[in-house]
Amino acid sequence: MSHLVKNYNRKKISFKYGKGSYLYSTDKKKYLDFVQGIAVNSLGHVHPKLVKTIKDQSKKLWHVSNAFKIPEGEELAKKLCKKTFADYVMFQNSGAEATEAAIKVARRYFYSIGKPNKNRILCIKNSFHGRTLATIFASGSKKMTEGFAPKVTGFDHFSFGDHHSLKKKINKNTAAIMVETIMGEGGIKVIPDWCLKELRALCNKKKILLILDEVQCGIGRSGDFFAFEKSKVKPDIVPIAKGIGGGFPLGAVLMNKKVASGMTPGTHGSTFGGNPLAMSIGNTVMDIISNKKFLNNVKNLSKYFLLKLNKIKEKYPNVIKQIRGKGFLIGIQLYKDQNEFIKKLMNNQLLTIRAAENVVRILPPLNVKKNELDLALKIIEKVCSQIK
Ligand SMILES: *Cc1c(COP(=O)(O)O)cnc(C)c1O
Repeated sequence: MSHLVKNYNRKKISFKYGKGSYLYSTDKKKYLDFVQGIAVNSLGHVHPKLVKTIKDQSKKLWHVSNAFKIPEGEELAKKLCKKTFADYVMFQNSGAEATEAAIKVARRYFYSIGKPNKNRILCIKNSFHGRTLATIFASGSKKMTEGFAPKVTGFDHFSFGDHHSLKKKINKNTAAIMVETIMGEGGIKVIPDWCLKELRALCNKKKILLILDEVQCGIGRSGDFFAFEKSKVKPDIVPIAKGIGGGFPLGAVLMNKKVASGMTPGTHGSTFGGNPLAMSIGNTVMDIISNKKFLNNVKNLSKYFLLKLNKIKEKYPNVIKQIRGKGFLIGIQLYKDQNEFIKKLMNNQLLTIRAAENVVRILPPLNVKKNELDLALKIIEKVCSQIK
């Protein structure tokens, strides 16, 4: 029997090793992995540069307390700020920690300017910001919060796309609006650029902060370094995680100078966050992904892949309802429950994962090859023909 808590409904397959876009199972099958740890292995499995980094760093230094200056962290923070809107970075270990720290930064900012009652966070209903007590109540999801009373208060909600309710829910106690630029778990729902612009304008008008959760859609996943980049919008706070560690647990909160001013010594901390081992890996991932040529390649291949997926949709209009997403954060919305489809893809050695609204989520590594995308398209089309 398994002594692991049954909080997951795990599939029966296990893997012995991985390489790039592929996973090799213990029963000797080769799978095209378009889950990649749920958008975590941004450079695929065991990328040679990451292997070298972890090897080299593991011989030098793994962990020291944040009570000391950590040069590898200084370097990664500098790179992140140079590439983005941010002035300051605070390292964490995971996405939930990063989003929760983002909430703390927002509240602490208003506290520090003498407005401690401005502390409520306005979020999209059924969004996803992690699994800590605060972040599940931030999501406003009944399923995720059931049985975890008492409720963590301080969160208000509006429905995706409901601009009227969004405006109505802002009151004198609102500190920030926090949304995923692209809703991942929620079904690959993209907030359009014009909406992001209006969100920013609304926050300016109401003198509140804008938090864009880029834990899933950030670090090149959308084809831009950040999914909000093209809108030219500058958020105040951005939690990141998943892709920045390339498979190693790493999270961070990026922020501007204004809000960082509230985070004085002792206001937040993390034992593990920002240790030399995690930081050196983050530096290598950052060097590869922030390169313009690398991101252009993501954009071009994604364009090709989306075009072909839409062709399949046209061929099977009774199976596929909509192709969603940007870059390599892609959703195939089906008319029927997606689990059978995902199982059939898996039987054909293509791994994908579900999202809400009957969506099959497709998350290739950002350095996926064209022939690997073609293989996936072939399998998806085959499964469509079997469903019909
Ligand atoms: C995955 C995710 C999180 C939580 O990250 P964990 O590392 O699982 O804690 C938060 N926000 C978004 C948008 C995510 O996709």
